[in-house]
Amino acid sequence: MTAGGGGIVTADGGPPVLAVSGLGKGFRVSRSGGAGTVRAVVDVDLTIGHGEIVGLVGESGCGKSTVGRCILRLLEPDTGRIVLDGTDITRMSRRRLRPLRPKMHMVFQDPYSSLNPRMTVGAIVGVPLRTHRVVARDKIGGAVDGLLDRVGLARQLRSRYPHELSGGQRQRVALARSLAVRPSLLIADEPTSALDVSVQAAILNQLAQLHGEFGFSCLLISHDLAVVEYLCDRVAVMYLGSIVETGTREEVFGSPKHPYTQALLAARLDTGAAGPGAAAAGPVRRRAVLAGELPSPRNMPAGCTFHPRCPVAELPLCADTVPPDVTVPGVHGGSHSARCHLVHTDGRAPDIRVAG
Ligand code: SF4
Repeated sequence: MTAGGGGIVTADGGPPVLAVSGLGKGFRVSRSGGAGTVRAVVDVDLTIGHGEIVGLVGESGCGKSTVGRCILRLLEPDTGRIVLDGTDITRMSRRRLRPLRPKMHMVFQDPYSSLNPRMTVGAIVGVPLRTHRVVARDKIGGAVDGLLDRVGLARQLRSRYPHELSGGQRQRVALARSLAVRPSLLIADEPTSALDVSVQAAILNQLAQLHGEFGFSCLLISHDLAVVEYLCDRVAVMYLGSIVETGTREEVFGSPKHPYTQALLAARLDTGAAGPGAAAAGPVRRRAVLAGELPSPRNMPAGCTFHPRCPVAELPLCADTVPPDVTVPGVHGGSHSARCHLVHTDGRAPDIRVAG
């Protein structure tokens, strides 16, 4: 995975399952002085190799979900290029896109709103099998049972409706429906954030197990650093529509270079535990080093968009000039880059966790 303009590098050195370059998306909004455009996603590059899980992490409202929806063409990007399994799907017509749909699937944050309330579990999971002719008609029932087994749901739930299920069971149904067509790419958009803390870990463990069995590539969108650290091979950190740091999990979590990433890591609840459900263990300490709120994309700061909140900003440089993407040597042997004026190609970078 690369971000921010570097070359395409995948873990296995082969062609990527997904290659996104220069992705941009704006939304028209009305303001008191007339209509304007909010830039939700700005020049995003993202590449995912076969079987990789890439985490896209950042605060709510930073544009993560918009990236996911643009990749699946649920939203039309304004700029950029999206290549799936070697095929450019950026401007492909809906009709030509239809046969490629089984290659990519999305699991949404709220499983209840993504499941048809009038359909039984069996029908919901059976629809993609039938639509995409994954198995012969007389084999659909058995295939549905097999998928329910794989996601840890009892077969007796086939005849139930979504409102009769718990949140965790509904998300398992959504997973079974997605995996029915054996996608190359699964985009999981905050798949556990609408669930009780008590079931979040179980769903994440299920996702990890299914990834091992099915071998799909995955873009995991989350605001939860513990989730990303537990599941992902690589990480892209997003701030105000742009990717500001990217690298392997070990590099980004072990040696963060961008002040925003450092602030996220320092401010998270430090429970002394790792993995899913870590937040549920209760806070031990919190170091608040990230001042202020995420600015509105309507008033995108000039220069480095993080400069109004950055404790080590150098003015006027940071307020006037967009920082470059700087590739640094991986401390743990992995790829690593950050978009900051104060990050150097030899790896030197500020660390706001010790500066403050
Ligand atoms: Fe902070 Fe400047 Fe780096 Fe932006 S470019 S993160 S403002 S030091």
